[in-house]
Amino acid sequence: MNELTYCPQCGKSGLRYEESKKWSCTACGFVLYNNCASAVAVVLQHRKDILLTRRKNKPGMGLLDLPGGFSDPMETAEQTCKREIWEELQIDLNPDSLCYLGSRPNKYLFKAIEYSTMDLFFRYDLLEKPKFLMCSEELSEVVWVPLKELDLNELAFESQRNFLKQYTLA
Ligand SMILES: [Zn+2]
Repeated sequence: MNELTYCPQCGKSGLRYEESKKWSCTACGFVLYNNCASAVAVVLQHRKDILLTRRKNKPGMGLLDLPGGFSDPMETAEQTCKREIWEELQIDLNPDSLCYLGSRPNKYLFKAIEYSTMDLFFRYDLLEKPKFLMCSEELSEVVWVPLKELDLNELAFESQRNFLKQYTLA
């Protein structure tokens, strides 16, 4: 991403990377920001077990992940949780019962572009484990893991490792 050179406005190779998230064009003055994207991660919990998914695709292929994903424009974080949990698992959660727990920054490398994200963590308690869990095509499996047995090294993302390390100690 830092190597972008052609300006999307004037087409000349005047684009220069300035700092952290900003590019500007020396030819026409165009400015491009690659701002931090917001994303959610939901700790679906039943007693002392949490639900994790196994990633089928890069980044983090084969590693564990909390269900969630990127926010769409003009969505609330709670709406993102509801939409993503439905898309991934077909669990229809009540957004009013989500409990916000905190945030962690993350890096998400997708097809040679590194995106900066702000991951927002929520907890959602399930009174019972769903009998059938639909697993979307983006996932290879869905697993229930006792919090005590969670191996942080199996997680795909640094933000989740940091967050769950603290969460499992609480
Ligand atoms: Zn330009």
